[in-house]
Amino acid sequence: MSDSSRADAKVWRIDALIAAAAAVLILVGAAMAGLAPGFLAVLAALFISGFGLYFAAPRNRQGVGARTEPQAQPLLPDAARQVLECLDDPLLLLDPGGRVIFANRAAGAFVGAGSERKHISAVLRTPELLEAVERILDGADSENIAFSIPVPVQRHYEASVGRIGSTSGQPSPILIQVRDLTATRRAEELRADFVANASHELRTPLAAVSGFIDTLRGHAKNDPEARERFLEIMNQEARRMRRLIDDLLSLTRIELNEHNPPAGTVDVVALVRDAALALAPLAHADGIVVSIASAPPHSVVGDKDELTQVFQNLIHNAIKYGRDNGEVRVRFGRVTAEGKRDGAGQIFVAVEDEGEGIPREAIPRLTERFYRVDVKRSRERGGTGLGLAIVKHILNRHHARLQVESTLGTGSTFTVFLPAAPVTS
Ligand code: ADP
Repeated sequence: MSDSSRADAKVWRIDALIAAAAAVLILVGAAMAGLAPGFLAVLAALFISGFGLYFAAPRNRQGVGARTEPQAQPLLPDAARQVLECLDDPLLLLDPGGRVIFANRAAGAFVGAGSERKHISAVLRTPELLEAVERILDGADSENIAFSIPVPVQRHYEASVGRIGSTSGQPSPILIQVRDLTATRRAEELRADFVANASHELRTPLAAVSGFIDTLRGHAKNDPEARERFLEIMNQEARRMRRLIDDLLSLTRIELNEHNPPAGTVDVVALVRDAALALAPLAHADGIVVSIASAPPHSVVGDKDELTQVFQNLIHNAIKYGRDNGEVRVRFGRVTAEGKRDGAGQIFVAVEDEGEGIPREAIPRLTERFYRVDVKRSRERGGTGLGLAIVKHILNRHHARLQVESTLGTGSTFTVFLPAAPVTS
């Protein structure tokens, strides 16, 4: 190796080390200051891009001598690349003329592999984004744009495109940062649907109550028999509204707590017996017998109140949608997971009814809020359409899962798999 290339390699290594150290310092410092991840990305990118361009440009350095950079030389030092590759959001860095200096892995969806050193117009597949880059190349100010990609499934994005670090009046590099808004949009749609559904569910009983008040003031005023009948219906509608509000509040409370796993231990066999006992009057009214299989205590990791709600909802559904004068059976068992050193595995509880069953295509939707297979039947049986959504959120918190099997005309089995409590010797 010649003296000049040795000196050059040394300078390169020092540059790369300084760039990496500075980027890490910026990230750590900004994180400690509580800055948002997007802002961290820009900070790191701003700094590192300066180094990237430094390497990308032909250099004439003191002590190294004038020379041309070899073509294979990476446009950003490895350390800088590694930092930017860690970002989840797509990020592209262009030189002042629009040539790609760096595209992180997440940006692969927009420019494909091997885009570096190529002009952005030759590699960018998204017309809206390319038009924004062209405006910047023509001298426009930084801008934010929103766009969607319809295939294979529609995704929504927001991108900021602009020049960075322009202080000398010279054209500076261009940074393209893309944020995937699909999940946020979906959450907004779900929230809007939820509010619309909840208002609709409340409006129906409220309209009934208002209607009966008018009737009682009008032609039923002097009819004691009609008055009694209407008051009973109003009472039922008021109870329905109360159930709905209780379920909505439960759902919100459970969702808020969902990322905080339970720490307690509870015997699920005793808990299910208590849950079934509380529902005995409802089962009795439909002539249904709830049989609980005999089983030794099975300890699971869980919150007693929440798990009681899970099994009350499942047994109540088996009664509501089961066969009149039929049977609801509850069974327990242990699924031993291979390789589990503590021998804990999972405990399952299966609730089986003899009802009409559930169409196959409806099964994946059962835990959606307000989803009902038969709306009329659910309303007649006092359902709110939230019971299984509550079950799902509680089970998520417990790292547990629900399995639904059903045969039309024969019945359904809802099985809950819960993590067993570790065996203590
Ligand atoms: P609901 O308050 O309407 O019972 P859920 O969320 O508990 O609401 O259940 C959603 C829907 O799933 C019910 O409306 C019903 O159509 C169906 N479903 C739930 N459990 C059963 C079951 N054991 N047998 C048949 N259908 C059921």
